[in-house]
Amino acid sequence: MSAEQAGSDLSEALEHYVPGCAGHAAFTADFRTDEEREECAAICRGCRVAAPCHAYAVAARADGYWAGVDRAPRSYTRKTTEPGGCHPAPITEREMQ
Ligand code: SF4
Repeated sequence: MSAEQAGSDLSEALEHYVPGCAGHAAFTADFRTDEEREECAAICRGCRVAAPCHAYAVAARADGYWAGVDRAPRSYTRKTTEPGGCHPAPITEREMQ
């Protein structure tokens, strides 16, 4: 699906629904603490537009926290000596459950 089509689908889904992320700064910040990620995840779990939100985030390669996934910009990741490799792992690629 193209980003344009996914954006159109998401806009349509948001016509009569205000998601919990609206106005929540943690969703658009460049970096989130573990507590903020957990708070975002809880909000997304109860969201009625998670499916089109996820589709748009994937299609548009969006940065930020979208549909239960922390899509931090690659420039904010760094290698570590810990198993798993980079920060802000491990939630970075985790899908919403
Ligand atoms: S699923 Fe998308 S629209 Fe819904 S609260 Fe999460 S980030 Fe916002």
